[in-house]
Amino acid sequence: MTDPPEAVLSVDFELFSHTPAYRQATGSTPNGSIGIDGGEFLRAQLSEHDVSSTFFVVSSVGETHPGVIENLAADGHEIGSHTHTHRLLTELDPSTRLEELERSKETLEALTGTTVTGFRAPAFDFGADHFDMLGAASYEYDSSVVASRAIPGWYGGEYTLQKPAPATAVEADAPSSVAELPVSVMPGIRLPLTGTWLRFFGPGYTILGMKLLARQGVTPVLYVHPWEFVDLPTIKGVPRRVYWHTGQWMRRAVQRILDADFAFITAQDALQDGGVRAVDGSAEGSKRGER
Ligand SMILES: [Zn+2]
Repeated sequence: MTDPPEAVLSVDFELFSHTPAYRQATGSTPNGSIGIDGGEFLRAQLSEHDVSSTFFVVSSVGETHPGVIENLAADGHEIGSHTHTHRLLTELDPSTRLEELERSKETLEALTGTTVTGFRAPAFDFGADHFDMLGAASYEYDSSVVASRAIPGWYGGEYTLQKPAPATAVEADAPSSVAELPVSVMPGIRLPLTGTWLRFFGPGYTILGMKLLARQGVTPVLYVHPWEFVDLPTIKGVPRRVYWHTGQWMRRAVQRILDADFAFITAQDALQDGGVRAVDGSAEGSKRGER
């Protein structure tokens, strides 16, 4: 018997009202809590499987629903940042971008009493100065690179990074204090293993990709959203693909993934096990070469 391979089932903790699809819609809903129940479902599932995860949290949720974030931290999950308001970083001016990173870190640290070291950009969207900004805001790692093929009207095509690496592997002049944990794609076809692709291709697709990556010595890094686990209200102008296989279908899918023969770990542990650098949980501990 060998130990099962490791995997990361990370959570981009945002509400439905934060998604670009909702923000660009013509209709709206008065319900500003869509996704909270999905977060509770995930928390219960992770607890049942006795595994830890990383929640990249939109920190304004910590202001409206503080208990929800406090509970995640109390359960032993790693809390990372997914900005304060989930606006696309490349649409903001540099000072607003930095404020999103700093305010989010401060809010989440005050709420959980832990040091927030990790960051994921909304919609995996970031510009050339991203790692400098993260270094300036005292983050230690990013997880916004997806080495997918180019997907028209979406993202991808820019990166090939598959394994944890110093951020200099992504941007040559990135600060040496920042590391990158890339989000996984299916070997060969290079489409993401989760998100829309999990909901279209099914958990068998995701688990196959995880196994293929593990065989290559790559720890799969997946991402899910709390709002994918609830029955979404029909909003005028939200594309139909956003609704596809959300709610109960997605609850069963994530249960199958958690039942697969993998040891689920946090993003921070995946970086550490990937040998990129010692992550000691303290922002002061490994700030070598900070500029
Ligand atoms: Zn997001």
